[in-house]
Amino acid sequence: MSEITTEQAIGFICAISHQLTAHRDELNQLDSALGDSDHGTSISTAFEVAVKTITSIDHPTLDDVWKTTATVLLNRMGGASGALFGTFFLKGVRFTKDKKSLFKADMDEILQAGLEGVKQRGKSDVGDKTMIDALQPAVKAFITSDNLSDGWQQAALAARYGAESTTGLVAKHGRAKFIGERAIGHQDAGATTIALIIEGIRDYWEEQTNGKT
Ligand code: ADP
Ligand code: MG
Repeated sequence: MSEITTEQAIGFICAISHQLTAHRDELNQLDSALGDSDHGTSISTAFEVAVKTITSIDHPTLDDVWKTTATVLLNRMGGASGALFGTFFLKGVRFTKDKKSLFKADMDEILQAGLEGVKQRGKSDVGDKTMIDALQPAVKAFITSDNLSDGWQQAALAARYGAESTTGLVAKHGRAKFIGERAIGHQDAGATTIALIIEGIRDYWEEQTNGKT
């Protein structure tokens, strides 16, 4: 399949919500080693609210899907990562405006703009032990893939690898920064969330395409 319909974009948000709710305790546990144990609860609750809000809109557009998700994450999630995940979706709104579906080239732009927005807002880069360690390699892997199916598959692998790479790092941002060297040996919660999100989208897309490319 070469384009993402509005219905499928809503399917992405639902898939993310299911995935993060299923892994809520694991994410809280990761955040307990490096932060304040709230990450799984706050991100899964925010996506549950986003799904409810989007599905309550009469005939939602692609713009509604991105804007609603951004607004809920920015206003309802709180914490350092609410603003960052919210910024990711907010930066994509420019590319969803007036579109009925998204082609891979549109998705490339949405992901790239989202990544740049998060890096700018968080003043973070690869190697800082944050969500960027998973997000940046995932976006690069997606953009260099030939089609949507390969894109989600390669992005999911890159995100998981990136999330795992945070285990050996000292943190330069967020609460984990304050524990210094003791952060080594623990995987970053936000980076793990990025891997789970993209794996959720990959699995949903595989179901949708059912073997087609
Ligand atoms: P809080 O730390 O406010 O409790 P969360 O627990 O929801 O927020 O999120 C923590 C995650 O946010 C971290 O695991 C990390 O991936 C991410 N994070 C924190 N600060 C930054 C930053 N400056 N840039 C990118 N990601 C960050
Ligand atoms: Mg936290």
